[in-house]
Amino acid sequence: MKQKLILVSNRLPITIEKENNNFNFTPSVGGLATGLSSFSKTHESLWFGFPGINAENLTTDDKKIIKDRLINDFKSYPVFLTNNEVKMYYNGFSNKTIWPLFHYFQVYTDYDSETWKYYKLVNEKFFDELIRVVNNGDIIWIHDYQLMLLPKLIKDKFPEARIGFFLHIPFPSYEIFRLLPWRKEILEGILGSDLVGFHTFSYARHFLSSVQRVLGYEHIFNQINTSERSIKVDIFPMGIDYDKFANAPKDSKVKREISIIQRDLKKQKIILSIDRLDYTKGIIQRLESFDLFLTKYPEYIGKVTLIMVAVPSRTKVDRYSNLKNIVDETVGRINGKYSQIGWTPVWYLYRSLPFYNLSALYSMSDVALVTPLRDGMNLVAKEYIASRLNKKGVLIVSEMAGVAEELGEAMSVNPNDKEGIAEAIYTALNMSIEEQQHRIKLMQERLKRNDVFKWASQFIERLQNTKNIQEKLMVRILINEMKDLFLSNYKKSQKRLILLDYDGTLVSFKQKPEDAKPDKDLYKILEDLVSDQNNKVVIISGRDRDTLTHWLSKLNLTLVAEHGAWINRDGKKWEALTDLTTNWKDEIRPLLETYVDRTPRTFIEEKEFSLVWHYRNADIDFASIRQKELKSHLLDIVANLNLGIMEGNKVIEIKSLDINKGKISQKLVGEDNYDFIMAIGDDWTDEDMFATLPEEAYSIKVGLVNSKAKYNLYSNKEVRELLKELTSANK
Ligand code: UDP
Repeated sequence: MKQKLILVSNRLPITIEKENNNFNFTPSVGGLATGLSSFSKTHESLWFGFPGINAENLTTDDKKIIKDRLINDFKSYPVFLTNNEVKMYYNGFSNKTIWPLFHYFQVYTDYDSETWKYYKLVNEKFFDELIRVVNNGDIIWIHDYQLMLLPKLIKDKFPEARIGFFLHIPFPSYEIFRLLPWRKEILEGILGSDLVGFHTFSYARHFLSSVQRVLGYEHIFNQINTSERSIKVDIFPMGIDYDKFANAPKDSKVKREISIIQRDLKKQKIILSIDRLDYTKGIIQRLESFDLFLTKYPEYIGKVTLIMVAVPSRTKVDRYSNLKNIVDETVGRINGKYSQIGWTPVWYLYRSLPFYNLSALYSMSDVALVTPLRDGMNLVAKEYIASRLNKKGVLIVSEMAGVAEELGEAMSVNPNDKEGIAEAIYTALNMSIEEQQHRIKLMQERLKRNDVFKWASQFIERLQNTKNIQEKLMVRILINEMKDLFLSNYKKSQKRLILLDYDGTLVSFKQKPEDAKPDKDLYKILEDLVSDQNNKVVIISGRDRDTLTHWLSKLNLTLVAEHGAWINRDGKKWEALTDLTTNWKDEIRPLLETYVDRTPRTFIEEKEFSLVWHYRNADIDFASIRQKELKSHLLDIVANLNLGIMEGNKVIEIKSLDINKGKISQKLVGEDNYDFIMAIGDDWTDEDMFATLPEEAYSIKVGLVNSKAKYNLYSNKEVRELLKELTSANK
């Protein structure tokens, strides 16, 4: 079956209108649609989204007509939504909760469990439509904040699908994100992806920090490792269709439009402002800055015009209609204050402009004033630069827009600093032509190299790549024929050694160590394993003797405590495995105590032969600084004491170098003539055990990460399944 590329966004890039019982289909030419259009040549592609026409207004026949036409003529697939669903999921949760919060408009954010319910429901609706066409190996690229739960829904059902997610808006700092009551579900939803993309490094950084703080997953080189998969987080600043904007000013229609505007404005300098009418765009602050500029520099009265295009947007959301009133008033006030016969300071256009009109404005404006309070990227800034045929012109851009990280040659301003913006306008209007051209040239070269086509192809390429890395690891997963062979070898064998780590292997990692007590299911599994006379089952753990005795001594197991310091062969008596001194503890303990005092919510665990500093409950960033400090501090001391420092899961353990799981495993293996040896573990302390086992042994690492073990299993859930299969295979 051919691999499909499935694109998913809230809205299909097509407008459908009903006219006398006929449907008219008009494709839109937005940036995303343009960037993704090239895939239709290389892939069998299909675009999923809401067709923009409410389901209530459609009969079953209508829906069928629309669907057939979309599939056949536009390679698109409709997800029909009712009026109420659009109201609750789109206008509601997406635009009254996520949009304001992610743009740092915390006081504008509604927290409404009803709209959240619909957000989940509509994400599920998208999923229900998708499963009609998705196959396991397909590539699925999901776009934006309306569909953050969708990646997980798909991954759970199609683990082999290659899922990419791109967020087109900012990802806020953890301090903002954590205000969201549904923060955990949202992050889990996104992490169903194999690749997560953002416009800028800051957004990726905030996302990684939230994942670590909310879900506890660490990241290394922008890679998040859950127990089951690794997920790549990367940066893909979205580009524009550069050539389209660069070539448009040569078009006769655009030239005509330019001469019409020029006739009206005569020799005026033009400052251009274009955005959707949205409170994140800083429109009021921009107008007030222009007002201040005219006050401070009255010599420009009659000589400069601000052309302000505000495209109507989300008019059904109150905040937006209120904003419209304030913008109208502010424009009116400024025009009232400064207008002269034949000159109006602000030309205000509240509508969407056709492309040739837009291009004319881009190519004839002396200054572009782009000052959003927050903006994921801002393509207007890029389009302005691309449209400057003679390389003249100045871009003033807000520090809070994603585009500012990419266009360092633009003049940057703080969008809240009206004085600063007024000054920037003055500087821009007086900048030398050479400097203008120097800056624009550099920006044009960069934007031409990184256009929207490159953006899209790089994302897909990286997505393929991420999956290839995962697939290499997948080869080691103990499944199919390998597993059949494993089971049959188990069955055939007469003398088996089974070495099992405990935390993370038989039970999942718990916030509180005492919560990891064996549950009924695990108890039964272990009971079944030991009831087979041919099995010698060893729990080989880092835990102390008392805990293991308390939890497991009733079973006929061999217990190994403190990574091999102690062994208990009959459930009663513990023997120390080496003759060790513990005098060193008095030297190390006071040091650890100072770290406990300086790092709230960390604690010391004292085992017979080791000392452990636990930091799982502490602030993760703070603790990781302290952890590095402690490690370097310890390194100075331990060298002379024959001690080793072990870094486990949110712990640092100090113990004798003579104790490790490798030594005890080797000893156990040598005690009998085993014809089947199996060892399972998840932590890096288990690597010592894997390394010392004989060649024919089955060593199994829990988690899809590299290891000295021969095989991998996804999680402790699969370990339990496997152990159940072993015991039932022998019944
Ligand atoms: N745009 C348009 N018609 C208009 C004004 C703007 O099609 O009358 C387009 C503009 O060319 C740009 C997009 O709208 O591609 C705005 O994108 P941006 O990233 O600046 O802001 P967003 O609206 O996505 O927040």
